[in-house]
Parts: sequence; structure tokens; C-alpha cells
Amino acid sequence: SAQAPPQQTGEGVKVIIRIRPLNQSEVLAEDCTRAVTCMDDYTLTISPDKKKQRSEEACTFTFDSVHQETSTQAEVFEEVGIPIIENVVGGYNSTIFAYGQTGAGKTHTMIGDPECGRKRLAVEGGLAPRVFQYLFKKITEEEQRKRDEYGNPEELHFSVRCSVLEIYNELITDLLNPKEVNLQVREDAQRGAFVDGLKEVHCQNASEALRLLFTGAQNRKTAHTRANSKSSRSHYIYTCFVERTSKSIDGICQTRHSRLNLVDLAGSERNNMSGATNHQLKEACHINKSLSTLGRVIKELLESQKHGGGHIPYRDSKLTYLLQESLGGNAKTTIIANISPSSISYHETLSTLQFVRRAK
Ligand code: ADP
Ligand code: MG
Repeated sequence: SAQAPPQQTGEGVKVIIRIRPLNQSEVLAEDCTRAVTCMDDYTLTISPDKKKQRSEEACTFTFDSVHQETSTQAEVFEEVGIPIIENVVGGYNSTIFAYGQTGAGKTHTMIGDPECGRKRLAVEGGLAPRVFQYLFKKITEEEQRKRDEYGNPEELHFSVRCSVLEIYNELITDLLNPKEVNLQVREDAQRGAFVDGLKEVHCQNASEALRLLFTGAQNRKTAHTRANSKSSRSHYIYTCFVERTSKSIDGICQTRHSRLNLVDLAGSERNNMSGATNHQLKEACHINKSLSTLGRVIKELLESQKHGGGHIPYRDSKLTYLLQESLGGNAKTTIIANISPSSISYHETLSTLQFVRRAK
């Protein structure tokens, strides 16, 4: 029988900032200075370039943690990935988001350099490959522990299925079966919100899970605009459905379901829409719908942690509707806001920091 996991308290939403190194073109740009200064492991200051943003003041923000340029993929995984997997293996839903403007490091953080190939990615990749490895290691250990305790392989069993989808223009595409371009979110009492008809592939180990990530990433759509010819305009969602079946001493079977979502969000930049076609305007509007609803959901969740519950507008976008059971309540949510330290990105970085700032 399915069983709702017990309420877990005091966790909620965690916000982490990751500052990427200055890139080549920023280093070479004449008018580029550093806008972001890291004060300590939790605090950063963003300062306007006095020549350009005369009226603006420096702002200081505090987060759950701030990862500087020197922070490694392994360090990010240890802080973000490990607690999330412990949570999932324990039967709770969990979500990690990568948020930020195009080029700020979302895909680097979430996946790694997709060009570097599957074998290398397993070693030097971002969160996803590390998460898969740790998840399957943890599952094997748990099963082994029970077996040692009771001497019976039937006592505890995990099964993992994975899916990859994209939300683009508020349309859901199955990236493991890209012919499916307009899948619908449905809800039922047992499963909660789910995508009807989405392919879910059973995975036995980390390398199978990683292979699906690659297939999905290859199928990911990018649309082209004048402003940003290659910027990614879709939300990419990789989900592991974990099923944990345990048998108690008196022979009663219990199954627990939990989900782990890894979400590489569309670029958060507000585009200069001059010269955009109708299609591009519609696209920008839809991207904004999922992102702005996510912003409101996160804000409500952060506020309700402080002041108690209010209405959370999950149903206002596909992204938040689909993830509703994986955000808030007894779910663990981590948002990694990726930023550039450069003065060129001052406005976008400030808007990213404001998006994820904690309610006062
Ligand atoms: P996004 O997905 O947000 O558009 P990417 O992850 O593609 O951004 O990053 C843009 C570029 O910057 C890539 O070439 C990536 O390898 C590099 N990059 C991003 N973050 C880091 C980092 N922390 N360290 C080194 N290089 C990074
Ligand atoms: Mg990207």
C-alpha cells in the first residue's frame, strides 16, 4: 500500500549563490570591473559601476551560502547534493534548481560541460552525474544494511525510474521521446501531479541514469533570437522516481514514493524585445510565466517559513504545477542562483539576487 511520508519540519527552501569566474570576453572588455564581492561564506555585496549607474547604491545580501569562483564541482555537490539524496532515499521529494541569466553557469553547475563526453562527465561533471552515483551507492548500502540485519534480501528494495522533459512556451515535450510535444499535467490522489504519457525508464545504475541525461540534453531545444542567438529558452527537468519497498517483521509490505528533480531553468534575462517577432514575444511571455510564477511560489514559501502559510500559486504555470509536491511542505528545495561577478552583468545579477532573496 502507498503511504504518505510523515511531515518533516524546519527544512524548506535553501538558497545558494554560485559566482562563476570572469570569462575571456569579460576579462578583455575595457569597461569591465568586478561588481560582486564575496564578504564571507554567506554574504556578498553588489556594487554599481559609479560611471554608469550613478544613482544606485551598493547592496548586501545574505544567503544560506555563497560559493566563490574557486569553488569546485565536488564542493557544490557536497553541500547541495548529499543532503538532497539522503532526503530522497528517506522517502521525501526534493528539487534542485539552477537559476540565472544565460551564460551564468546553470548548465555547468547542474550537468557539467555537456561536450566533454559521458565518461569524463562522470568524473569531473556537475551535480547530476555526482547525484546519480551517490544515489545508487546509497540505495545499495541501504539494501545491504537491511540484508545484514535480517538475512533476507526481500526486506528492503529500491527501484528507480528516470524521465527527462522540457517546458518550452508552456508546452511539455518528452525529451526521451521528442515526438510527444504537448503532454498534459494531471493529478491523482496517489501520484500527485504527473505528466500524462511521459516515458519513465527503469535504471539499475548511475551510468544508465547518465545516459538518459545525455539523450535528453541532445534533444533539448534552443530557440534563436537576435539578442542571444544560442540562449536556452526552455526549462529542462530531469526526474528520478524512487520507489522504496520494505517489509516489516510481521510481513507487511510498505511502498514509499519520492521524487528527485534536477531543474536547469531557462535563462532569467529580460530580453530587449525590440525587433522581436510575434513568436519571440509569445515565447518570452511564456518563459516569464513559468519563471515569474516560480518566483512567487518561492517567495511565498520563504515567507511562510517565517510567518506561517499563505496561498501558494502552484497552478499558475506548468513548471510549478508539475513540481508542487516537490516544493514546500515536507519537500526539500535548493535553488542555486548562478551569477557572473562582472560589472557588465550588474543589472541581471542584481535581479537574480532579488529573485532569490529571503523575505525580511
Ligand atoms: P548557462 O547554462 O547558465 O547558460 P553555462 O553553464 O553554459 O551557462 O556557462 C557558460 C560558460 O561558462 C560555459 O563555458 C561554462 O563552462 C563556463 N562556466 C560556468 N560556470 C563556471 C565555473 N564555476 N567555473 C568555470 N567555468 C564555468
Ligand atoms: Mg545552459
